[in-house]
Amino acid sequence: MADRNFKGIKRIVVKVGSSSLTDEKCNIDKGKVKALVSQIARLKKNGLKVVLVSSGAVACGVGKLKLKKPVYTIHEKQAAAAVGQGILIQMYEHSFAEYGLTVAQVLLTRGDFADRKRFLYARNAIECLLHMDVVPIINENDTVSVEELKFGDNDKLSALVAVLIDAEMLVMLTDIDGLYDKNPSKNADAKLITDVHSITEKIKSAAGSSGSNVGTGGMITKLEAARIAGDSGIITGIVKSTEKDVLLRFINGERIGTAFWPRSDRLKRKKRWIAFASSIAGKLIIDEGAKKALVFNGRSLLPSGITAVEGKFDVGNTVSVVSGGKEIARGIVNFSSEEIEKIKGKRTNEIADILGHKYCDEVIHRNNLVIIGKE
Ligand code: GLU
Repeated sequence: MADRNFKGIKRIVVKVGSSSLTDEKCNIDKGKVKALVSQIARLKKNGLKVVLVSSGAVACGVGKLKLKKPVYTIHEKQAAAAVGQGILIQMYEHSFAEYGLTVAQVLLTRGDFADRKRFLYARNAIECLLHMDVVPIINENDTVSVEELKFGDNDKLSALVAVLIDAEMLVMLTDIDGLYDKNPSKNADAKLITDVHSITEKIKSAAGSSGSNVGTGGMITKLEAARIAGDSGIITGIVKSTEKDVLLRFINGERIGTAFWPRSDRLKRKKRWIAFASSIAGKLIIDEGAKKALVFNGRSLLPSGITAVEGKFDVGNTVSVVSGGKEIARGIVNFSSEEIEKIKGKRTNEIADILGHKYCDEVIHRNNLVIIGKE
């Protein structure tokens, strides 16, 4: 069993779900908020940089507008978020002020991560806030995001924020003690899994269905967040928000909740962005030989190994590389989909003749290529 020594942690992302902030009527539960804010204040006092990813905008809006649960239209949800986000941030502003702390509201959309420039702009702004000792409070900008372009849940958003700011730890506060080997509400003998070293199929099936009613995230989305964080070298904790001082206790190394241990060979910064944050513009289907060259020999992707192209994309877009029906890599392409359509299956010395020009041999250079789940 891994020793939980988190002494070197300096940057942490804390994610809190709607159910950990509101009561059954979707009104803010002041006691829950105070418990959270006082712990973050203690972490700040100990010199940690903390970013809070907080859900609750929709829930607060639903409470204020007295909307009927549980079905709201997308527009109602967007409207509820617009009303609720103000309530949420006002509440944090007051609560943190009691500890002499200033907060900042940062609302992000998936597009802010998908576009590398916007990703870097967001990073600079958050860095600046951290430098000023402010507590950034991040949520998805629900009012302007439509369903198909949304993260949808703040679990993935919190993992990407942890990647964005180079955090060492992500702690997700939720309404369940951690990850169980089976659904604890249905099985009295369900056991808490205290440490996860690799997110295997068994772990995924243990996660089962959602554990909470108010937010949108469940255990599956938390596992996905832990995977993104883990591949980026970040430790993830899932703990129950109502446990006394749970955040501090987890960070102090107490065996509480579930800890997900990261891979030791963390992806480099740009590769993390390629793998998790950038949006996928299309697919390249490759043959067995190319797969071996990419996965086992660390090579670039050349036209000769490509058998098919799916989607329309441009130079500089991120695409998914597929072999045998499975995504094996993601990378940034040096050619457009139209060009690849013409040079697929050909040798590199034929590229110039076919296209009438040639910038490079590699369709995806190995420096811009991430092997999924391995590299
Ligand atoms: N962004 C949503 C909100 O603030 C919550 C998403 C989630 O539940 O994870 O209400």
